[in-house]
Amino acid sequence: MPKEWLTELLYMHKIKKIVLQSICIAAQRVYPNEFISMLGKNEKEEVFELVMLPAVYGRNFSSIRTDLIPFDKNIVGTIHSHPSKNNNPSSADLNVFSRLGKIHLIICWPFNLEDIKAFNEQGKKIELEVVK
Ligand SMILES: [Zn+2]
Repeated sequence: MPKEWLTELLYMHKIKKIVLQSICIAAQRVYPNEFISMLGKNEKEEVFELVMLPAVYGRNFSSIRTDLIPFDKNIVGTIHSHPSKNNNPSSADLNVFSRLGKIHLIICWPFNLEDIKAFNEQGKKIELEVVK
C-alpha cells in the first residue's frame, strides 16, 4: 500500500450526517448573512454536534469571539457559510483555520449537502467519512 494512502486513512475524520443536515438548515436560515459555528466530537472521534458561540453574523464577514471559546478538547474545528457559489477558503479563513482546530467546513449557496467542502488546518481539502 502506498504510504500516502496510509496517511489518508489515519487522518480520515468522521462526521455524523445529522450534523451536515443541521449545517444546511442553519446556513439557509441565516442567509444572506454568514453562518458560523464550532464543531464538537464525541468519544468515538466523530464530529457529532455544532457548538454555537456568541458570533457576529454579517454580509461577507462573520467572526467568532475567540476570547469566549471555552477550553474544550472536544472542539475540533469550525464551520461557516459563504453567501456565494464559492466554498474555497479566503485568506482570513486560512488564518482562522490555523488557530482553531483540524477540521474546517465551508458551505456555499444554495446550501445543500454537496455544497459542503472540508479543509484541514492548512487549508488543504480533506475528505470526511459520513456516518449515521
Ligand atoms: Zn469564508
